[in-house]
Amino acid sequence: MKKTGLFYDDVFLRHETPAGHPECKERLVSIIKAIDASGLKSRLIMEKPRKATRQEVECVHSPAYFERLSAFEGYYDQDTYVSEGSFEAALYAAGAVMKAVEQVKDSRLERAFCAVRPPGHHAERDRAMGFCLFNNIAIGAKKARELGFKKVFIVDFDVHHGNGTQQAFYEDPDVFYFSTHQYPFYPGTGSEAERGAGSGLDTIYNVPMQAGSGVKQYLRIYQDILPPLMQRFKPDIVMVSAGYDIYSGDPLAAVNVSGEGIRAIIDGILAGAGGKPSIFVLEGGYNLDAIGELVVITLKELLDYE
Ligand SMILES: [Zn+2]
Repeated sequence: MKKTGLFYDDVFLRHETPAGHPECKERLVSIIKAIDASGLKSRLIMEKPRKATRQEVECVHSPAYFERLSAFEGYYDQDTYVSEGSFEAALYAAGAVMKAVEQVKDSRLERAFCAVRPPGHHAERDRAMGFCLFNNIAIGAKKARELGFKKVFIVDFDVHHGNGTQQAFYEDPDVFYFSTHQYPFYPGTGSEAERGAGSGLDTIYNVPMQAGSGVKQYLRIYQDILPPLMQRFKPDIVMVSAGYDIYSGDPLAAVNVSGEGIRAIIDGILAGAGGKPSIFVLEGGYNLDAIGELVVITLKELLDYE
């Protein structure tokens, strides 16, 4: 069994969104309920996140954006809402990922799942977008580099392209960004031609997926293409933007991956990681009846027991 941490705190419920908004606190309530019912809690190491410092956030975001967001309330863009408790929740979401990195560095954990919100992968240097305030996984990857993990491999299986994460590492040869996503679709980025630049050329790998893609198409990518790509890059740590909006019953998207398909995707990622520390970070996933069970499937793969 792998030493697997689960990072969660009720502070994430204080990021409130208007009634009917898909990125709602009930997502996390469903996840925690499913974990409670699964019997996995006795196997998991339950962890509380810490709060990110301003300096840590500014490894990815501009000081001007940090200032603006700290004093903001209301709709930041047409779909990204900021409530009174959102800024604090966002600091803890980024802090959860950094604490997970710190704990695998200290060998206290081998794997982690960060059940956080607001999500992060759309957040760019200067702006919130797509329900995301701070780019949690990008801030975590910067922390990993700072702590001596030389090479970081980020896998993003959310149905949307992680434009913010790609932007943060577009010219960085030490951080690989791999993404599958419905395309063309929100946010519009993520074509195969976006491959990185400068010394970071060919450390961005986008796999656009047609609407209607299912398990068959996904398994070809995650079992045949991804593991050798990861093994060639030889990462010291693997970080995953886990977006459950690829699920067939998701209200926001149109690819059709079953729970069993998601299990196989996780399997492919862990095979590619080859025993290196692996940190999963919650992004999207809006089917409240399914998201809890999909996270439980993920945790079972991470724990790797029997
Ligand atoms: Zn998404």
